[in-house]
Amino acid sequence: MSDQRVCITLKRDNSGAPILHADAVFPQNGPFELQLPTWRPGRYELGQFAQYILRMEGLTDEGVWKSLQKTDLHRWQMEADMSRVRWSFQADMLNAGSTCIEPGLLYVNPVNCILYQPDNVGWGYDLILADIPEDWTLASALPRTNMTLHARDMQHLMDAPFMVAESLWHAQYEAGGVDFHIWAYGKNTPNQAQFIADHQRFSASQIAHFKSFPAAFYHFLYLFPERETRHGVEHEDSTVITLGPSSKCLTQEGYDELIGIASHELYHAWNVKRIRPAEWTPYDFSQACPSPLGYVAEGVTTYMGDLFLYESGCIDLNGWCRKMEQLLMRHVNNPGRLNMSVAASSYDTWLDGYKLGAPGRKGSIYVEGAVLAFLCDVRIMQQTNGEASLQTAMQLLWEQFGKDRIGLTAADYWSVLNEVAGGQDALNDLREKHADGCDDTWEALVSSMEWQGLQLTQSQEDGGVIRVQLVPKVA
Ligand SMILES: [Zn+2]
Repeated sequence: MSDQRVCITLKRDNSGAPILHADAVFPQNGPFELQLPTWRPGRYELGQFAQYILRMEGLTDEGVWKSLQKTDLHRWQMEADMSRVRWSFQADMLNAGSTCIEPGLLYVNPVNCILYQPDNVGWGYDLILADIPEDWTLASALPRTNMTLHARDMQHLMDAPFMVAESLWHAQYEAGGVDFHIWAYGKNTPNQAQFIADHQRFSASQIAHFKSFPAAFYHFLYLFPERETRHGVEHEDSTVITLGPSSKCLTQEGYDELIGIASHELYHAWNVKRIRPAEWTPYDFSQACPSPLGYVAEGVTTYMGDLFLYESGCIDLNGWCRKMEQLLMRHVNNPGRLNMSVAASSYDTWLDGYKLGAPGRKGSIYVEGAVLAFLCDVRIMQQTNGEASLQTAMQLLWEQFGKDRIGLTAADYWSVLNEVAGGQDALNDLREKHADGCDDTWEALVSSMEWQGLQLTQSQEDGGVIRVQLVPKVA
């Protein structure tokens, strides 16, 4: 940890309003600029978090609080002799990437509400939760001393959400030598024994296939509030997953969704948190950072997250086929995939990647990316007589890029896939047609499924919706 540390005291508003007050002492006097992140990892678009900042003031050497001037939309100027600043943040949104105050809960994603000094990103951080009763339960991957959290530097802080609540359900399990924690907030929680057993299964399976895990511990932070939400966000050593209203996690559908999101988010601990596109290495929170590799970050993770549910026995072949049908339905019914490649759609998430956007304009890094990952997986298995798969390539990428945090380029990614498939150009046609190009995938999908012993068909419904059916082939 750096000797120079930023000390921030966080308090909820006395009135009970969902407002978070921060009071920060920096290790040096101004003048310098303070930056609020403009985006958060896991959501590759501008977040415009400064819209929730209610006030921003610095303490003058005369002991007077003075409004700070902005030098940019998300930047403020600390004046000479100032070292202390305070601000207030509107904390009333609850999703897997937000900051929220509810009676009995403080849930914070530092990346949307904490300032940093762009020229001193190595400063450590101490977050003091000043008004939280000592008997509340704190869940976070950050090290702590009582109700104070410690981050070694800015990147560590911004990638470590926490929640502290009057009451949290907590469970612990071990998989592949890693200490896993499940924390859950909410009136209802899923069937606990089954929930832990399923987590244990997919965690052990993923670790076995990657041959090692990046950390000694990992935390699943679940929020089951009494409002509509369904969301997951990956972090360095943790994830936040929300599902609400909380009664949903008592239904089979809600339970299946949770396990699906959880397996996806854990896969991100390798793919994107460590095997990371060069444009995001390290994260530059001061501006948009477009990358063409969203289809690796989210597409491969979507495909692999589901595949590991099947591999580890959380779902059966029928369950995997139903998930694939849903994915392929979204794929074939999106004409945007034939207009803009998934690489170009990756780049453009920063414009409108998380909205429907102009009809027929773009593909989805999740859906089209997962379809491409499946085609690559089958191709590698075909080329190697089943000796290797896409996971073999991902394991190699973890060894060659992820462990040392070397930013990944498209050339690196495809070269490792080709290498694993045993030929320099074994996957070039897939890259040209379905990553960089917009060719229709249907024929390739049908034949790849057939090679897997599955029959893929489609039919048109009234209203023009294409339905997809995936079933084991009849011998
Ligand atoms: Zn994801």
